[in-house]
Amino acid sequence: MTAPTTTGAATAALQARWSEVMLGNYGVPPVALARGEGAWVWDVDGTRYLDLLGGIAVSSLGHAHPAVVEAVSRQVSILVHTSNLAMHVPGIALAERLASLVPARARVFLCQDGATANEAALKIARKRGNLQGRDEIVSTHGGFHGRTAGALAVTGTPAKRTPFEPLPGGVVFVDFGDVEALRAAVGPRTAAVIVEPVQGEGGVVLPPPGYLAAVRALCDEVGALMVCDEVQSGIGRAGTWLMSVQQGVVPDVVTLAKGLASGMPIGAVIATGEACDVLVPGDHGTTFGGNPVSCAAALAVLDTIESDGLLEHVTRLGDRWAASFDRIDHPLLASHRGVGLWRALELLQPVAGAFEVAARDAGFLVNAVRPTTIRLAPPLILTDEQADMFSDALPALLDAAAGAP
Ligand SMILES: *Cc1c(COP(=O)(O)O)cnc(C)c1O
Repeated sequence: MTAPTTTGAATAALQARWSEVMLGNYGVPPVALARGEGAWVWDVDGTRYLDLLGGIAVSSLGHAHPAVVEAVSRQVSILVHTSNLAMHVPGIALAERLASLVPARARVFLCQDGATANEAALKIARKRGNLQGRDEIVSTHGGFHGRTAGALAVTGTPAKRTPFEPLPGGVVFVDFGDVEALRAAVGPRTAAVIVEPVQGEGGVVLPPPGYLAAVRALCDEVGALMVCDEVQSGIGRAGTWLMSVQQGVVPDVVTLAKGLASGMPIGAVIATGEACDVLVPGDHGTTFGGNPVSCAAALAVLDTIESDGLLEHVTRLGDRWAASFDRIDHPLLASHRGVGLWRALELLQPVAGAFEVAARDAGFLVNAVRPTTIRLAPPLILTDEQADMFSDALPALLDAAAGAP
């Protein structure tokens, strides 16, 4: 992450403490956040920012949303934890809601985050594959599925993988969006294909239309499972509950996390059809996964998205935002792309880091997801006025990034 050009005293003091005590896996963050309200956050020096990243596509209802505050407060005062040795109502209610998002027989496993959702999905694929003599998982270059060993093994980003090899094997990578490459890679040995509907960490990369349907068809042809990683794309980010289902595709396994509980840690696996029946008692588990408080938060998120019409809002505002980017004619801005409130600005020079700093100095949190790419993934409750604030500031931010050394 790039260093800020201006740092308040409280932030600087925390950066010094961080540097002494935290492991080096992140680098020193440029911001220390103290609180948030809606799409606004304040740092420890009292500086206000418009949060256009939502804690990496997580804070779906923004910060301190009353529905989440109420649900979490109520649940935390009643029951925080049960382990998997007891059931609880919020967990069952959430599983019922998630199962209803796919038009098929479906069952759910609740866990902690995106990586653990994908680990469970991969265990389903491996167990079924082993029973059927299928030993390969096909994944995509540029994809991202998490940092744990299993999820990293199917993550097609060499910089994230190479230092940690050997990773679990039996993984084949193909170019994202290339149906012919996939056709050449899948066969009787394929246990599963794992794919994101849009590559998020890869830079909000959209495949050609019909790609997911082609993945589904190829999996059906060879009897492989289709695992759709909707950790970033699901639950409203793209203006739909699930991008796969929206495109008429029912995956065998869908994984969810990020925005599902608007910041409370949770992950979920939705299995459909025969994938529902692969795991038997003793095959998999978690102590904390699907805890009652996170489940209560997720239910509040699903209720609020529905009652406030946020899927329609995200689609409308996303299109409006894209139209505002269309109107910007700047030598640094090559193009923009995305869906819903999930957008990327493509720069002609590798100065996304400088753009991120300029944006922060101007009061906007954005993410330099690639050297030439800025990612926007704001809370789904972003208002038209807030979106316009960024569009209006964009030419000056591009100027600043272009002029940066
Ligand atoms: C963020 C992400 C993950 C990993 O989620 P964690 O909660 O960080 O483990 C997996 N898949 C996709 C598509 C993601 O965007």
